[in-house]
Amino acid sequence: MTHNSWIDLRSDTVTKPTAEMRAAMAAAEVGDDVYLEDPTVNRLQERAAEIFGREAALFVPSGTMGNQISVRVHTTPGQEVITEARGHIFNYEMAAMAVISGVLPRAVAAPEGIFTWELIRPSLSPKIYYRAQTGLITLENTHNMAGGTVYTESQIRAICEQAHGLGIPVHLDGARIFNAAAALGTDVARLCAPCDSIMFCLSKGLGAPVGSMLVGSREFIDKARCVRKMLGGGMRQAGILAAAGLIALERMPARLSEDHANARLLAERLKGIEKLDVNPASVRTNIVISGISRTGFDSARMGELLKGKGVLVGTVDATTIRMLTHLDISRSQVEETAQVFAQLLEQRS
Ligand SMILES: *Cc1c(COP(=O)(O)O)cnc(C)c1O
Repeated sequence: MTHNSWIDLRSDTVTKPTAEMRAAMAAAEVGDDVYLEDPTVNRLQERAAEIFGREAALFVPSGTMGNQISVRVHTTPGQEVITEARGHIFNYEMAAMAVISGVLPRAVAAPEGIFTWELIRPSLSPKIYYRAQTGLITLENTHNMAGGTVYTESQIRAICEQAHGLGIPVHLDGARIFNAAAALGTDVARLCAPCDSIMFCLSKGLGAPVGSMLVGSREFIDKARCVRKMLGGGMRQAGILAAAGLIALERMPARLSEDHANARLLAERLKGIEKLDVNPASVRTNIVISGISRTGFDSARMGELLKGKGVLVGTVDATTIRMLTHLDISRSQVEETAQVFAQLLEQRS
């Protein structure tokens, strides 16, 4: 089995740059971005700001750096940051908010990963001198580990209005915000309008090889640029990367509904396999979660068996696996994946 023939459903980060991206990268006009002189980076930042209807944007090397810059800009050391218990910013970023910003994450569980103000309110610090104050609320849209679940515009607005009433900013981890917008049939500008800052990834379903964006007010982005430099994220002729990012941003959102249809199809096919616990109705975007406790295999073993048949999947916990559809997964590969599961689980019975 060669690497290229694997059906890789571990993540949408595995997407390879398209031929158009590679050509644009080779031809990119570049300059020193630390001097603000890379025309391609500047164009990417201007387009991102325009698409989100905001004053400014900043190209950053990774989503993690974008999230952590935002925490640093919005907070002061000793504050608390409310995050969803299964959130990326809390679980998969190396405790960076504690290390870089000196803040305490206050993790609050939400069903399907989607907060309401009622869920957040009890975890806000009372204004008493001996309690660390809540400095920031973070939302994740789509919610990765909850299975690509989606906040609607009105759910986001309801939270932001309450938070802003208390003087608390809201950062949106929108790694997959274009998937959320596609699922809702809305645009990212409207969907994110009430949030104080937004991070989104170019390097996932949008297919760019590297890079994420921060979007917000001019004042926020100016501060974010300083923190990016502090963290070592000031890049030089980064237009090579931004050129692919521009294509990701302009062309790729329109095709995300294909990935969503493929994810739904995968869930429907897997639901037909008796020992798998999948709910196609819960698949809103490009993430499919399946319980495997009735298969007799744990996730690690299931992963090995699938890999032996050319299919790569991710693990949530010992009895749950996770699969993402993306640019490099076709409908026929979804059908093939379902057949592989069927073969594997039929052999067992
Ligand atoms: C992927 C992801 C990020 C950022 O990941 P990087 O690998 O650092 O680019 C942030 N939040 C969520 C929800 C993600 O899925």
